[in-house]
Amino acid sequence: NLYNMVQDLKGNIRVYCRIRPAFSVGARSTIDFIGEDGSLVIVDPLKRQRDGRRVFQFDRVFDPTATQDAVFKDTQPLIRSVMDGYNVCIFAYGQTGSGKTYTMCGPSGGSTKDMGINYLALNDLFQMSNKRKDIITYDIYVQMVEIYNEQVRDLLAEDSSTTKYPFLMAIRSCTSENGLSLPDATVHSVKSTADVLNLMKLGELNRHVSSTAINNRSSRSHSVLTIHVHGNDLSGSILRSCLHLVDLAGSERVDKSEVTGDRLKEAQYINKSLSCLGDVITALAQKNSHIPYRNSKLTLLLQDSLGGHAKTLMFAHLSPEDDSFGETISTLKFAQRVS
Ligand code: ADP
Ligand code: MG
Repeated sequence: NLYNMVQDLKGNIRVYCRIRPAFSVGARSTIDFIGEDGSLVIVDPLKRQRDGRRVFQFDRVFDPTATQDAVFKDTQPLIRSVMDGYNVCIFAYGQTGSGKTYTMCGPSGGSTKDMGINYLALNDLFQMSNKRKDIITYDIYVQMVEIYNEQVRDLLAEDSSTTKYPFLMAIRSCTSENGLSLPDATVHSVKSTADVLNLMKLGELNRHVSSTAINNRSSRSHSVLTIHVHGNDLSGSILRSCLHLVDLAGSERVDKSEVTGDRLKEAQYINKSLSCLGDVITALAQKNSHIPYRNSKLTLLLQDSLGGHAKTLMFAHLSPEDDSFGETISTLKFAQRVS
């Protein structure tokens, strides 16, 4: 199809930008212009009168009025390619409060309106598998883990009170014999969106949260929802692929003079793993012979879905407020580096 042709021409990494609506009406925004062609112009709030404008280019930019469905529509071809055997990785990157969790999960508070990519993707996979059921039988499984301070924990252990968020040691290829990248993590077979909703509740409950000055429920860990698709066609050939949906920890730079101890350690782990992710994607984009997957747990876990024939999509999330300008620039630089 056309999408895959374009993809082949452009390589397997694309970057979308999404801008959250402003929290207060009438507030000034650092977003100056959004082009249909994926261009974005931002303005430095201190240099509005002078040459404070900068232009960035994305594969697509979603303005604050873009709906979850509109965002999903541009993500769907990637999701569907998982059914054809491609490994896919979708990331939400950005500072805390910029809308990462909104894009991946939906609005805070667990409403079932405006569901995010995680839910819409699984829903779409169920529909596709139903459509194809006469030619191929699909089984869909999910795992969900978080990476906090370079330790991987199972978010879908049924009774985390007794298992105490088991730490997971082994990470291996998701196209290996049993098709699981995290052999120790709980695997749930899912057959309906109701199954999925229950698991997401469990995962969210178990997700590590701690307070920071910015957002007292800010997520200081990466959460990775992995969807394994196993297909069997009539001729007996087997297809295995996986889709990783990653809500990254907040990318904001932490002022070292303000945090100490655990908060500082946390911040250093986050900075390191995000820069490792940037290094891996940059190395892939430049077609380097050495890809530094082993430098972080995150890239090690996602190894099968980054590079090779795998497809990668990064959402760069922006907060439009003037006081976020510094973080906006740093998010845009990160996005520019990986695209
Ligand atoms: P992050 O996960 O990056 O810290 P959130 O997704 O929690 O940020 O978003 C911060 C707040 O803004 C939440 O209350 C969320 O519901 C809201 N929000 C984020 N993006 C949007 C959007 N596109 N439309 C409406 N509300 C949004
Ligand atoms: Mg979040």
